[in-house]
Amino acid sequence: MPTVSTNTGTFEVTHSDAEWQKLLKPDQYATLRHEATEPPFTSELLKEERPGTFACAGCDNALFSSTTKFDSGTGWPSFWSSLENAVGTTRDLSLGMVRTAVWCRRCGGHLGHLFDDGPKPTGLRYCMNGVALTFKPSTA
Ligand SMILES: [Zn+2]
Repeated sequence: MPTVSTNTGTFEVTHSDAEWQKLLKPDQYATLRHEATEPPFTSELLKEERPGTFACAGCDNALFSSTTKFDSGTGWPSFWSSLENAVGTTRDLSLGMVRTAVWCRRCGGHLGHLFDDGPKPTGLRYCMNGVALTFKPSTA
């Protein structure tokens, strides 16, 4: 387990908290920089079924492929795999639960949590805040 958390560590893209607040929309800022969780079933990305790539809303880092997206029924966009070297994980003991927090490797922005009850082939479920992601349809 990496020991880097979203609040420490050195990232390729860094801004002060005040700068992030200016750069991001309020709900993006709350999630990416302060680990807020968006209300379930609110993300437009839940219904996104076109081929393409999901990227970090904070730094544009490509995070997930549409080929690994699935409907988990949880109300948050879910993926069974991330792109290679796209995200990092940290054990998160907040809210009295043991969870694995998922963050962007490029800017350290909080994306969501990782669970081990996903579908094959990985058995993983990346439970993401849609507000922390942007979708880029593939042009092919
Ligand atoms: Zn990022």
